[in-house]
Amino acid sequence: MAADNEYVQKGTLYVCGTPIGNLEDMTFRAIKVLEGVDLIAAEDTRRTIKLLNYFRINNRIESYHEHNESKKAKGLIKLLKEGKAIALVSDAGMPGISDPGQILIRHAIEEGIEVVPVPGPTAAVSALVVSGLDTGKFVFEGFLARKGRERKEQLERIAAEPRTIIIYESPYRLKESLKELQAYINNRKIALVRELTKIHEEKLYGDISSVLSEIGDREIRGEIVIVIEGNKTGPADNNILDEMDILTHVKLYMDQGKSKKEAIKKVAEERAIPKSRVYKEAIAIDVDNGKDI
Ligand code: SAM
Repeated sequence: MAADNEYVQKGTLYVCGTPIGNLEDMTFRAIKVLEGVDLIAAEDTRRTIKLLNYFRINNRIESYHEHNESKKAKGLIKLLKEGKAIALVSDAGMPGISDPGQILIRHAIEEGIEVVPVPGPTAAVSALVVSGLDTGKFVFEGFLARKGRERKEQLERIAAEPRTIIIYESPYRLKESLKELQAYINNRKIALVRELTKIHEEKLYGDISSVLSEIGDREIRGEIVIVIEGNKTGPADNNILDEMDILTHVKLYMDQGKSKKEAIKKVAEERAIPKSRVYKEAIAIDVDNGKDI
């Protein structure tokens, strides 16, 4: 039963953060709001019941997940308009962050309903702050697309992005994704952050090749965030790049005294394209300034 309290207003939607592992990260206010609302809309009722039991909260729960989001949103909006207070929670962290919530929140705003955040942890920001990378400007890319054009475009965007990039990754695709990312971001720094706030919390720092060799044959389990240093070289002026072909671009750097290998790396970074593509174009160059090939 909802317990009326001063933390909850009628007809309000509370977007309520919950822990990303360690239940003790639940905020005092989140507990009070979950106790005081008329209804808790939860991504997975079984998971939320465990959380409620831990804090001895006894309240009404209904499921609200990505497969019934639109349909459920309508019913919840009706209840909100009737003056009911509703808390929206996801399985972990903040609702709407790679989790359901957006549709209900948007509808509520359109209907003039008060939407109130009850901030809690989110894996993205928690990983960012321990990454050691620039926290001044950052972007969140969510999960990498599984495959195809969407994935390629996302990787190209990450390669060119000057701000720190945060991505979520599944342990099953981790090694494959790191290897693929390496072709796009070369030796930019990353922080691989795993199982935050849990017993096996772990962080690996370095460029991708050193992180991959640190992982070695180990099977990496659990929940993972990868934080990637922004492209500090910056894609060079696009107009100039459009006019200059890749081969000329490599030759330009070799004329300035760089080895073929160094020139290829620099061109790949500036154009935000994989090194392998530049190698292919640069095959025609058989001199090497007397340095490494
Ligand atoms: N809403 C959540 C949030 O605010 O962070 C994200 C939910 S999303 C479905 C789940 C993904 O978040 C995981 O696959 C992982 O990438 C990341 N994640 C969640 N909890 C984590 C944790 N304790 N440590 C590291 N990453 C975590």
